[in-house]
Amino acid sequence: MQMTRIVSLTEEDEPLTLTELPKPEPGPGEVLLKVHACGVCHTELDEIEGRTPPPRLPVTPGHEVVGSVVALGAGVQSHEIGARLGVGWIHKSSGSNEENVSPAFEATGRDTNGGYAEYMTVPADYAIPIPEAFTDEQAAPLLCAGAIGYRALRLTELENGEPLGLTGFGGSAHIVLQLCRHLFPDSAISVFAKDEKSRAFARSLGADWVGHTTDTAPDALQAIIDTTPAWTPVVAALANLRPGGRLVINAIRKEDGDKEALLGLNYHDHLWLEREIKSVANITARDIADFLPIAARIPIRSTVEVYPLERANEALVALKRAPVTGAKVLRID
Ligand SMILES: [Zn+2]
Repeated sequence: MQMTRIVSLTEEDEPLTLTELPKPEPGPGEVLLKVHACGVCHTELDEIEGRTPPPRLPVTPGHEVVGSVVALGAGVQSHEIGARLGVGWIHKSSGSNEENVSPAFEATGRDTNGGYAEYMTVPADYAIPIPEAFTDEQAAPLLCAGAIGYRALRLTELENGEPLGLTGFGGSAHIVLQLCRHLFPDSAISVFAKDEKSRAFARSLGADWVGHTTDTAPDALQAIIDTTPAWTPVVAALANLRPGGRLVINAIRKEDGDKEALLGLNYHDHLWLEREIKSVANITARDIADFLPIAARIPIRSTVEVYPLERANEALVALKRAPVTGAKVLRID
């Protein structure tokens, strides 16, 4: 399913085109994966609508890829034929600790072809073994929503017992809630969401307090992770932070629809007392490799809705227009 043009998903129902392409060949240091499943991420909407456009079109999107190795490029010794591997947003980079912000960073499914396909190639170092505890469909959302959620939680610098907030409650936040329960069992978790369905979902997963995006939590929070594409939640979250608290924005792009909400920003109420804002940029291969075994130990259960590959457009349009409870995953047969 290829992206050939930039379109608005409020007007266009078929942004991707089903295309027959030759099977790719793995280059030196790469593996060829037969793709089993690929998650549908909000970032695909950002690519299709031009907020983070691919540098070249057409491109095959998809960066929550689970597949099996069917061919090895020259020099690859780290993986064997048949191994089940995952590929996240990072397709390749510098290999350093800061490879997520390196100029060498290339994104899967944006800068190079991704997993909305039967086959894809990836550098062997950026294909991570998938723990047996997960089915293909369960594992797919862990590779982006889960692993970036893990990075976001790490960037909060939360300590056990300190209260955490989550604003927005979709594919990533429902995983972060389970992760936080496991890593910080004494931390209370507050969830802010604009629709009742998401709030009910958060309650069902054991959130300690649940409210509307602009509500005030009963206690000020040490850190809040924002997974929304909007600005109203940013301002509201800053008002819910403790002095010295940190807002971590886990979004690759923000949309402009409610940008005027920023005019409500008041230095005293939202920033003073050393409250701070940090964004989460991309991900390292290490984040994914560290996160997956933790996810298997918990074990994290991602709520998934499965679509066949040919119906990727339906999944994307639904993600754009309807409230999300969990993650959408494409099954590739
Ligand atoms: Zn993603």
